[in-house]
Amino acid sequence: MSNQFQGYQINKTDDGQSCELKQLSDDDLMEGDVTFQVEYSTLNYKDGLALTGSSPVVRTFPLTPGVDSCGTVISSESDKFVPGDQIILNGFGVGEVHSGGFAQKARVKSEWLVKLPEGLSSRQAMAIGTAGYTSMLCVMALENHGIKPEDGDILVTGASGGVGSVAVALLSKLGYRVVAVTGRMSEEGFLKGLGAAEVKDRAEFADKARPLYKELWAGAVDVAGGNTLANVISQMKYGSAIAACGLADSMSLPTTVAPFILRGITLYGIDSVMAPIPKREAAWARLVKDLDMQLLEDLSFDLDFADLQQAGADILAGKIRGRAIIKIPE
Ligand code: NDP
Repeated sequence: MSNQFQGYQINKTDDGQSCELKQLSDDDLMEGDVTFQVEYSTLNYKDGLALTGSSPVVRTFPLTPGVDSCGTVISSESDKFVPGDQIILNGFGVGEVHSGGFAQKARVKSEWLVKLPEGLSSRQAMAIGTAGYTSMLCVMALENHGIKPEDGDILVTGASGGVGSVAVALLSKLGYRVVAVTGRMSEEGFLKGLGAAEVKDRAEFADKARPLYKELWAGAVDVAGGNTLANVISQMKYGSAIAACGLADSMSLPTTVAPFILRGITLYGIDSVMAPIPKREAAWARLVKDLDMQLLEDLSFDLDFADLQQAGADILAGKIRGRAIIKIPE
């Protein structure tokens, strides 16, 4: 591959930051012991923030955004990877402080990389992306808590989004009865197609929560935080657990200790960014086994590399449904 390649680059300007798709060279690559050709990427909420400059997620300039990427190793100074290896990269500050996947080439640290598991294509890995892999971490937290399908319904908030939609698909395939919460009731058909048994309007979770409601859920995956999560907490069954990973509603959590001390519920915080490699490998292996790849295809759509800036604004406006797959031009 030539030392010239195409990529997005974010630069600091007097009034904030600029982002453009331009010709880059190997001099733009950052420090690392593995260089790879990026074949596929995807779009996360964080990428939307980076591409539009609407929140200071990018903290090093110039920087190529793109939290997620999948590709083939071109050169490696690490004995863990050799040219030709297919790898997955996400988290560890990539797309924030280290250049990421919205370019034809990237150079990163080998300790951030996971080998593409057998049975998964690069395209499927990016259809899953950070969102799907975070869903799996949430599901694993509920399983580790000992929650079984016979214990009752599992609630998933933000169900039409990236994390939520994959969580619905995964949990239903694992035999759980899933209740999906969405602000887009027009997506009821889509969510039932993923395996949701029931779909609830997010408006039911919007008001300030009372300390306790009727016990409804054996487990929950929450991407919202705020009043949404507070209402979920108040509705959890005795001994149940929630895997909380996001703040799509709010960073705040206006709840009380009542559900914790009277119903013994557990709130698990899920972090995908700094998750250690063995946990990542376990999650990717489980995704190969437990995610219905046809459903994954159904909830994914192709996004043109050249349209990323508009798509970044769209994801912030809540206009993206399911998972975007970006083929990086060769
Ligand atoms: P998406 O933007 O794809 O989905 C978020 C969904 O949340 C939306 O589609 C919407 O679903 C719902 N939502 C939006 N606004 C609100 C609101 N005000 N109240 C309740 N629900 C709302 O994002 P992702 O699925 O990729 O990520 C979800 C969250 O998880 C984000 O906050 C993200 O930052 C976080 N995250 C955290 C990770 C971690 O490591 N902890 C990793 C990945 C993501 P609907 O229309 O169906 O209601």
